[in-house]
Amino acid sequence: MRKPIIAGNWKMHKTTAQARELACGLAAELVDYKWAEVVLVPPATAIATVAGAVAGTKLAVGGQNLFWEEEGAYTGEISPGMLQELGCAYVIIGHSERRGYFHETDEDVARKARAALDHGLSPIICVGETLAQREENKVEEVIGAQVKAALAKVSPEEAAKVVIAYEPIWAIGTGRSSSAEDAQQVIGFIRRTASEVLGEKQAAELRIQYGGSVKPENIHQYMAQSDIDGALVGGASLSTQQFSSLLRAAIVEEK
Ligand code: PEP
Repeated sequence: MRKPIIAGNWKMHKTTAQARELACGLAAELVDYKWAEVVLVPPATAIATVAGAVAGTKLAVGGQNLFWEEEGAYTGEISPGMLQELGCAYVIIGHSERRGYFHETDEDVARKARAALDHGLSPIICVGETLAQREENKVEEVIGAQVKAALAKVSPEEAAKVVIAYEPIWAIGTGRSSSAEDAQQVIGFIRRTASEVLGEKQAAELRIQYGGSVKPENIHQYMAQSDIDGALVGGASLSTQQFSSLLRAAIVEEK
């Protein structure tokens, strides 16, 4: 049984004071919430504050990025050990904004996923196609290559610690979400691809999220799909009211 996992990626939003307010608000709203594992992913400057605010609750904390080295002359970078020390259990890797603006490659993503696992962090590995690639019918070609590269350094025994987020780039922050059926089709394909790399039993343990303009109004249709195990949420994770409504709307009995 795969436990659903819903993560809120706050991106470059929230000062530490605002982050504390949001984390405390969510912790209070979600005291009785058990259906999904919930991960708050604040900017690096607010991780310690958020980890402190949710300590003793079921809410987990994640980083938005890491560098694979343990320490050294890498100005501006954060190591996996540093994230872990702050209280992170998860780290997003290869978000399309990192791949696009900061030129992260599939090889970088594989090294980062390996470094995360080596330090007890679960990587949330993002994959997704551009609109042009979708229109050229290249979704499986693009996603297949990204998934194989990202899992290249992951061992079969580690599958249950890995989360993949399928995020079509054209759906991120645009209000234009994928249909639940299309998302299920691609996510089913991701699971089949993962089974080629890790084995069928292990791929069945891998949690795969959908991300891209997920809102309280549309989350349920994604969660009702057999292969979709959660969501990576940007905009709708920035307010206590919206994110807690989304988490409650996500609940599918008998999942
Ligand atoms: C994201 O940042 O990963 C994302 C999916 O953003 P949004 O929910 O705003 O589309």
